[in-house]
Amino acid sequence: MYQLTARDIRRRNRFAVLQAVYAAGGPTSRQEITQATGLSFATVGNMIAELLDVGVLAEQGRDAAGVGRPRARLAINPARGVLIGVDIAETAIHFDLFDLAMTVLRSVETAIDPAATEPDAVADLIARGIAELTPVDADRVLGVGLSVPGLVEPEGGVSVFSPYWHWHNVPLKALLEQRVPHPLYLDNPLKASTAAQLWFGAGRDVDDLIVVTLRAGVGIGIVIDGALYRGVTNSAGEWGHTNLVLDGRACRCGRRGCVEAYVSTRGIAATLREVAPDSPLLDGDDAHVLAAVATAAERGDATALEVVERTGRYLGVAVANLVNLFNPRTMVFGDVVANLLGAPLLEITRRVAADHAMSDTFHAVTLQLCTLPHNPASLGAATFALDGFLTDRETFGSIAAWRATRTTT
Ligand SMILES: [Zn+2]
Repeated sequence: MYQLTARDIRRRNRFAVLQAVYAAGGPTSRQEITQATGLSFATVGNMIAELLDVGVLAEQGRDAAGVGRPRARLAINPARGVLIGVDIAETAIHFDLFDLAMTVLRSVETAIDPAATEPDAVADLIARGIAELTPVDADRVLGVGLSVPGLVEPEGGVSVFSPYWHWHNVPLKALLEQRVPHPLYLDNPLKASTAAQLWFGAGRDVDDLIVVTLRAGVGIGIVIDGALYRGVTNSAGEWGHTNLVLDGRACRCGRRGCVEAYVSTRGIAATLREVAPDSPLLDGDDAHVLAAVATAAERGDATALEVVERTGRYLGVAVANLVNLFNPRTMVFGDVVANLLGAPLLEITRRVAADHAMSDTFHAVTLQLCTLPHNPASLGAATFALDGFLTDRETFGSIAAWRATRTTT
């Protein structure tokens, strides 16, 4: 059995305290944080002292009302520094600059030239976008989180496999370290979107959650007992490449019949080609086709509605499998497919999943659309950078020494 070290426990507690401050949505108190986290008052006090010391939290006056000692109000200190979140999708890179309250200060988007996807060219594009968002005082950047498509090995920062670009074992973090002067944290969009839900979305309220990402790539993030489940090689959640149709459509992973071949942007374009090979909606790349289907479905176009119906049927069966496997409390559907096809797709998915899942298990789950105000992949990537900053030995390792100098002078 995996044993939590004292350091893991401190990290988990620090996360819980900070999450409670974010969830409060405004200044809060030690008492409220103790209540929200279920931790002891002493532990909460210690974690708050550390977070005040590194400047992530700040005291904002005191409540004078009531009896007893006045209570200090605590809030995130947005002035402490900034974080950069980068969502590297297959055809474009989205960059967001966040303050520590996770408010987007500025965004940039860069298209990826499909003819220039070799690692050095992509690393150059990423570095340029980060430089564009970096404030004049570059030391204010506490870290950069990057969501990288495909399989990613976060410790070494290696893009293990990215089918769209035919990348194998690309040391992306090392390539970026030659170009970017900030601490870097890499993972894939499934993990990043799930982290965003844990910090700011449905994951604040439930411990057993599945976050479904539906874009050019498809997959899930799995939260068990409040923690992101990664698997042995960080590949847990590659649900997009589980089989849905025996001997079905070719998938870009090289196999056939995968979930992704039916419910990704590409899969939906393929469904439209099956339903109506000459449809005028079949114009441009897969993303354009999806947008056209969404608009046409809204105005009641029969072909588009048929495509949404078929997509919901595929998705419903694949979701029923997840419900039976994980027995989650909540499933959140996010990214471009869910954003564009929205409630009608979710309705069909729910109906079909109800027919295929175990009924008691299905009754326990709520299926919902992602309601985060930002791009969940870049927001989640930025939380990896925040977590990295807070976990960095140097951030907290120097506190004891710093405290000693403060008390002796
Ligand atoms: Zn596949």
